[in-house]
Amino acid sequence: MRIRKLEIAGFKSFVDRTVVHFDVDVVGIVGPNGCGKSNIVDAIRWCMGEQSAKHLRGRSMADVIFNGSESRGPHGMAEVTLTFDNTDPELAQQLPLEYKDYAEIAVTRKLYRDGTSEYLINKTQVRLKDITDLFLGTGVGTKAYSIIEQGKIGLIVSARAEDRRMLIEEAAGITKYKARKKQAEQK
Ligand code: ATP
Ligand code: MG
Repeated sequence: MRIRKLEIAGFKSFVDRTVVHFDVDVVGIVGPNGCGKSNIVDAIRWCMGEQSAKHLRGRSMADVIFNGSESRGPHGMAEVTLTFDNTDPELAQQLPLEYKDYAEIAVTRKLYRDGTSEYLINKTQVRLKDITDLFLGTGVGTKAYSIIEQGKIGLIVSARAEDRRMLIEEAAGITKYKARKKQAEQK
Protein backbone atom coordinates (compact mmCIF):
# COMPACT_ATOMS: atom_id res chain seq x y z
CA MET A 1 0.00 0.00 0.00
CA ARG A 2 1.35 3.35 -0.97
CA ILE A 3 0.54 6.59 0.82
CA ARG A 4 -0.64 9.28 -1.58
CA LYS A 5 -1.54 12.08 0.76
CA LEU A 6 -1.56 13.06 4.41
CA GLU A 7 -3.97 15.73 5.69
CA ILE A 8 -3.51 17.07 9.20
CA ALA A 9 -5.60 19.57 11.17
CA GLY A 10 -5.41 20.46 14.85
CA PHE A 11 -2.91 17.64 15.41
CA LYS A 12 0.08 18.55 17.62
CA SER A 13 1.86 21.58 16.11
CA PHE A 14 -0.21 21.46 12.88
CA VAL A 15 -3.01 23.76 13.91
CA ASP A 16 -4.11 24.76 10.40
CA ARG A 17 -4.98 22.17 7.77
CA THR A 18 -1.72 20.92 6.26
CA VAL A 19 -1.47 18.58 3.28
CA VAL A 20 1.61 16.52 2.44
CA HIS A 21 1.66 14.87 -0.99
CA PHE A 22 3.67 11.70 -1.48
CA ASP A 23 3.64 11.68 -5.29
CA VAL A 24 7.23 10.66 -5.88
CA ASP A 25 9.26 7.66 -4.78
CA VAL A 26 11.22 9.41 -2.06
CA VAL A 27 9.99 12.32 0.03
CA GLY A 28 12.29 14.01 2.52
CA ILE A 29 10.94 16.22 5.28
CA VAL A 30 13.54 18.67 6.48
CA GLY A 31 13.51 21.57 8.90
CA PRO A 32 15.03 22.95 12.09
CA ASN A 33 14.72 21.20 15.45
CA GLY A 34 11.20 21.29 16.83
CA CYS A 35 9.53 22.33 13.56
CA GLY A 36 7.27 19.26 13.49
CA LYS A 37 9.04 16.58 11.40
CA SER A 38 8.46 13.80 13.91
CA ASN A 39 4.89 15.06 14.42
CA ILE A 40 4.23 14.06 10.80
CA VAL A 41 5.28 10.49 11.54
CA ASP A 42 3.17 10.60 14.72
CA ALA A 43 0.18 11.72 12.62
CA ILE A 44 0.63 8.76 10.25
CA ARG A 45 0.94 6.32 13.13
CA TRP A 46 -2.04 7.82 14.98
CA CYS A 47 -4.26 7.71 11.92
CA MET A 48 -3.47 4.02 11.44
CA GLY A 49 -4.92 3.35 14.89
CA GLU A 50 -2.07 3.76 17.39
CA GLN A 51 -3.57 3.45 20.90
CA SER A 52 -0.48 4.18 22.96
CA ALA A 53 0.01 7.85 23.86
CA LYS A 54 3.59 7.00 24.80
CA HIS A 55 4.35 5.78 21.26
CA LEU A 56 3.12 9.18 20.12
CA ARG A 57 5.45 10.87 22.60
CA GLY A 58 2.64 12.14 24.82
CA ARG A 59 1.29 11.42 28.31
CA SER A 60 -2.36 11.08 27.38
CA MET A 61 -4.10 10.75 24.02
CA ALA A 62 -5.45 14.32 24.31
CA ASP A 63 -1.84 15.51 24.00
CA VAL A 64 -2.14 15.02 20.24
CA ILE A 65 -4.69 17.87 20.03
CA PHE A 66 -3.14 21.29 19.34
CA ASN A 67 -2.80 22.80 22.80
CA GLY A 68 -2.24 26.43 21.84
CA SER A 69 0.71 28.67 21.22
CA GLU A 70 1.62 32.28 22.02
CA SER A 71 -0.76 33.57 19.35
CA ARG A 72 -3.41 30.83 19.08
CA GLY A 73 -5.79 29.21 21.51
CA PRO A 74 -6.01 25.43 21.93
CA HIS A 75 -8.08 23.41 19.46
CA GLY A 76 -11.06 21.25 20.33
CA MET A 77 -10.30 18.49 17.86
CA ALA A 78 -7.48 16.73 16.01
CA GLU A 79 -8.10 15.19 12.62
CA VAL A 80 -5.78 13.23 10.33
CA THR A 81 -6.60 11.61 6.98
CA LEU A 82 -4.25 9.25 5.19
CA THR A 83 -5.03 8.46 1.56
CA PHE A 84 -3.65 5.25 0.12
CA ASP A 85 -3.34 4.31 -3.52
CA ASN A 86 -5.28 1.12 -4.19
CA THR A 87 -4.72 0.75 -7.93
CA ASP A 88 -2.15 -2.05 -7.68
CA PRO A 89 -4.37 -5.15 -8.06
CA GLU A 90 -1.88 -7.33 -6.23
CA LEU A 91 -2.02 -5.10 -3.18
CA ALA A 92 -5.77 -4.51 -3.42
CA GLN A 93 -6.13 -8.28 -3.21
CA GLN A 94 -4.78 -8.22 0.34
CA LEU A 95 -7.53 -5.91 1.54
CA PRO A 96 -10.94 -6.95 2.80
CA LEU A 97 -13.23 -7.54 -0.18
CA GLU A 98 -15.39 -4.44 0.31
CA TYR A 99 -12.44 -2.15 -0.50
CA LYS A 100 -11.26 -4.01 -3.58
CA ASP A 101 -12.85 -1.68 -6.14
CA TYR A 102 -11.78 1.68 -4.73
CA ALA A 103 -8.90 3.45 -6.51
CA GLU A 104 -8.07 5.23 -3.26
CA ILE A 105 -8.68 4.42 0.36
CA ALA A 106 -8.90 7.32 2.79
CA VAL A 107 -8.60 6.55 6.47
CA THR A 108 -9.60 9.29 8.91
CA ARG A 109 -9.25 9.53 12.66
CA LYS A 110 -10.71 12.33 14.78
CA LEU A 111 -10.38 13.01 18.48
CA TYR A 112 -12.32 15.60 20.45
CA ARG A 113 -11.24 17.07 23.79
CA ASP A 114 -14.12 15.33 25.56
CA GLY A 115 -12.48 12.04 24.61
CA THR A 116 -14.88 11.08 21.80
CA SER A 117 -13.18 9.67 18.76
CA GLU A 118 -14.24 8.79 15.25
CA TYR A 119 -12.74 6.50 12.64
CA LEU A 120 -13.74 6.67 9.00
CA ILE A 121 -12.87 4.75 5.85
CA ASN A 122 -13.74 6.64 2.66
CA LYS A 123 -15.86 9.03 4.75
CA THR A 124 -17.99 6.24 6.23
CA GLN A 125 -17.85 5.82 9.98
CA VAL A 126 -16.27 2.52 11.02
CA ARG A 127 -14.89 0.87 14.17
CA LEU A 128 -11.24 0.95 15.18
CA LYS A 129 -11.25 -2.79 14.48
CA ASP A 130 -12.13 -2.12 10.83
CA ILE A 131 -9.05 0.09 10.51
CA THR A 132 -6.83 -2.49 12.17
CA ASP A 133 -8.27 -5.24 9.95
CA LEU A 134 -7.70 -3.10 6.86
CA PHE A 135 -3.98 -2.92 7.55
CA LEU A 136 -3.41 -6.45 8.90
CA GLY A 137 -0.97 -8.33 6.70
CA THR A 138 -0.10 -5.33 4.55
CA GLY A 139 2.97 -4.38 6.58
CA VAL A 140 1.46 -0.94 7.15
CA GLY A 141 -0.28 -1.18 10.55
CA THR A 142 0.98 0.40 13.76
CA LYS A 143 2.80 -2.73 14.87
CA ALA A 144 4.20 -3.51 11.43
CA TYR A 145 7.54 -2.63 9.91
CA SER A 146 6.48 0.28 7.70
CA ILE A 147 7.70 2.80 10.23
CA ILE A 148 11.32 2.29 11.17
CA GLU A 149 12.14 4.87 13.79
CA GLN A 150 15.34 5.60 15.66
CA GLY A 151 16.59 2.51 17.46
CA LYS A 152 14.14 0.13 15.73
CA ILE A 153 16.81 -1.74 13.75
CA GLY A 154 18.72 -2.42 16.98
CA LEU A 155 15.47 -3.56 18.60
CA ILE A 156 14.75 -6.01 15.76
CA VAL A 157 18.27 -7.43 15.87
CA SER A 158 18.20 -7.95 19.63
CA ALA A 159 14.51 -8.95 19.87
CA ARG A 160 13.34 -12.23 21.36
CA ALA A 161 12.82 -14.87 18.69
CA GLU A 162 9.01 -14.77 19.13
CA ASP A 163 8.92 -10.99 18.61
CA ARG A 164 11.09 -11.19 15.52
CA ARG A 165 8.84 -13.92 14.22
CA MET A 166 5.89 -11.49 14.40
CA LEU A 167 7.62 -9.19 11.90
CA ILE A 168 8.38 -12.07 9.55
CA GLU A 169 4.78 -13.28 9.78
CA GLU A 170 3.52 -9.79 8.94
CA ALA A 171 5.84 -9.64 5.91
CA ALA A 172 4.63 -13.08 4.82
CA GLY A 173 1.03 -11.85 5.10
CA ILE A 174 -0.13 -14.43 7.63
CA THR A 175 -0.84 -12.20 10.66
CA LYS A 176 -4.37 -11.55 9.43
CA TYR A 177 -5.17 -15.25 9.33
CA LYS A 178 -3.76 -15.74 12.81
CA ALA A 179 -5.87 -12.81 14.08
CA ARG A 180 -8.99 -14.25 12.47
CA LYS A 181 -8.29 -17.69 13.92
CA LYS A 182 -7.93 -16.19 17.38
CA GLN A 183 -11.21 -14.27 16.96
CA ALA A 184 -13.01 -17.40 15.80
CA GLU A 185 -11.71 -19.34 18.80
CA GLN A 186 -13.03 -16.66 21.16
CA LYS A 187 -16.54 -16.82 19.72
P1 ATP B 1 13.84 17.37 15.92
O1 ATP B 1 14.62 17.84 14.74
O2 ATP B 1 14.39 17.94 17.20
O3 ATP B 1 13.60 15.92 15.97
P2 ATP B 1 11.11 17.73 14.97
O4 ATP B 1 11.04 18.57 13.74
O5 ATP B 1 10.99 16.27 14.82
O6 ATP B 1 12.41 18.13 15.81
P3 ATP B 1 8.72 17.54 16.52
O7 ATP B 1 9.11 16.66 17.66
O8 ATP B 1 7.95 16.94 15.41
O9 ATP B 1 9.99 18.31 15.96
O10 ATP B 1 7.86 18.78 17.03
C1 ATP B 1 7.98 19.27 18.32
C2 ATP B 1 7.11 20.49 18.45
O11 ATP B 1 5.74 20.13 18.40
C3 ATP B 1 7.38 21.20 19.75
O12 ATP B 1 7.58 22.56 19.47
C4 ATP B 1 6.09 21.00 20.53
O13 ATP B 1 5.77 22.11 21.32
C5 ATP B 1 5.08 20.87 19.40
N1 ATP B 1 3.90 20.13 19.87
C6 ATP B 1 3.80 18.84 20.26
N2 ATP B 1 2.55 18.55 20.68
C7 ATP B 1 1.84 19.69 20.53
C8 ATP B 1 0.49 20.06 20.79
N3 ATP B 1 -0.40 19.18 21.27
N4 ATP B 1 0.12 21.33 20.51
C9 ATP B 1 0.98 22.22 20.03
N5 ATP B 1 2.27 21.96 19.77
C10 ATP B 1 2.69 20.72 20.01
MG1 MG C 1 12.20 14.66 15.45
